[in-house]
Amino acid sequence: MAKLSRRHFLALCAATNAGLLLPAAPAPAEALGDFPLHKKVGEALTICPYCSCGCGLVIATDEHGHITNTEGDPDHITNRGALDPKSISVTQLSNSPLRLKNVMYRAAGSDQWEEQSWEWATAEIAKRIKKTRDESFVATAEVKEKVVTVNRAEGLACLGGAANNSEDCYLFSKLARALGVVYLEHQARI
Ligand code: SF4
Repeated sequence: MAKLSRRHFLALCAATNAGLLLPAAPAPAEALGDFPLHKKVGEALTICPYCSCGCGLVIATDEHGHITNTEGDPDHITNRGALDPKSISVTQLSNSPLRLKNVMYRAAGSDQWEEQSWEWATAEIAKRIKKTRDESFVATAEVKEKVVTVNRAEGLACLGGAANNSEDCYLFSKLARALGVVYLEHQARI
């Protein structure tokens, strides 16, 4: 066995440590191979659809609109960048070939679904809200033997979702009150 002097031992340690501390040489461009650095990545902010916490997500999409990455939104007031594993699978939900992307309508009494446009659905909802409000509106009511103005739309009810933020809820409440809705609730309370 070769004899190692104290001087050689110290020199060897110094050389090894210097090697560990030296920065690694940058990888040559060819070593990156087909890594898609040229691909466009669009980032957008959205809300996790899975539970009522409504955590904020930053999603990256490729040029086909497919989600390629999901991260917690550090600026979102609910999660401050944190996420649970379930939210990561939003990619599967979004990219699934089974995902419903159009409005499907089944008329009362029918057993058939028909595809409709979003414009048709929005107009239909507005039409039905107006019809129900007109039919069920109560302008006055007797309270303690006096007739008072109440302006209640008793045929309508509104239910907010727990993923709505404060601003969404504010606007939702404003709309409901303007319509005369008194049955106004929120998912988080029921
Ligand atoms: S990330 Fe988790 S906690 Fe947050 S909304 Fe999605 S499922 Fe709920």
